[in-house]
Amino acid sequence: MHIQQQTLAEPVICYGMGVHSGKKVKLRILPAPVNHGIQFIRSDQPDCPKIPARFSNVIDTSLATVIGHEGCIISTIEHLMAAFSGLSIDNALVELDNYELPIMDGSAARFTEKILSAGITAQPGPKCFFVVRKPIKVEDGDKSVAVYPFDNYRITCSIDFPHPLIGQQSYTIDVSPASFSGEISGARTFGFFHEVEYMKKMGLARGGSLENAVVVGKNEIMNEGGLRFPDEFVRHKVLDCIGDFSLIGLPILGHVVANRSGHAFNHAFLEEFFRRKDAWETLTLRENSRDAETCRTGICRDRTEGRESLVRDTRSYISGALAV
Ligand SMILES: [Zn+2]
Repeated sequence: MHIQQQTLAEPVICYGMGVHSGKKVKLRILPAPVNHGIQFIRSDQPDCPKIPARFSNVIDTSLATVIGHEGCIISTIEHLMAAFSGLSIDNALVELDNYELPIMDGSAARFTEKILSAGITAQPGPKCFFVVRKPIKVEDGDKSVAVYPFDNYRITCSIDFPHPLIGQQSYTIDVSPASFSGEISGARTFGFFHEVEYMKKMGLARGGSLENAVVVGKNEIMNEGGLRFPDEFVRHKVLDCIGDFSLIGLPILGHVVANRSGHAFNHAFLEEFFRRKDAWETLTLRENSRDAETCRTGICRDRTEGRESLVRDTRSYISGALAV
């Protein structure tokens, strides 16, 4: 587990198209200093401020996760956010020249590969974590999202689609750069053929195609080459969860369990998470905290200057989020 903050060693550039807008976009991911967090900026709108990728800035979750501030919006951030969280990157400035991020191949594989080839650097500031102390759960019918105390970041996702090619699938992962890039980053978003047709008629998913989504027909996968993993669907749900939960603003030490969830329900869970201030604390970790025994006693307050300022930022962020 990384206990120092991290950023990219060099800038990364990606070109592509927004899946909902169909608009071409150039994305630059730039290294950023300690305690900067992940922030987005629009190069096509010079008056737009930097927008931190945080829960309190989310303005829509109906089709994708959209953040915004003062009329400036950044859409479909979840797959890139998953790559940052999966690769344990705390600080980056993401600049784009349109309002929607490129969908690439519908997964986080290209972002992950490009960031890994640019390199990741440790920074002189300790990473601050949300450490879960008590369970938090939201339920609505057969949907639920919960988080339980755990000394690593673990996610379990389950889905159940009444379709012969999907059905019930479940996946558990202890999130690390190796597990994320090997098991999750390549899993593509998916849609059902009849829904994709309907969305296109409604002027949505303009950039959607077999190049950037798994399309499920009545009895077959319509993409040439089929699936990348037999359980690619649930792996993509894990990817979306990693992206959505990263909007908490700090890495999590806890076990997230999501059943039949989506962006909107994940967001409802985050609202509950911030209401339940009794159930977590924000802490840095010591060198030897991977040891389970030490982890119980070794998660402790570190009085370095960087950490103090981060905790101050975190507190103001939390009070900001609660005011929403
Ligand atoms: Zn997705």
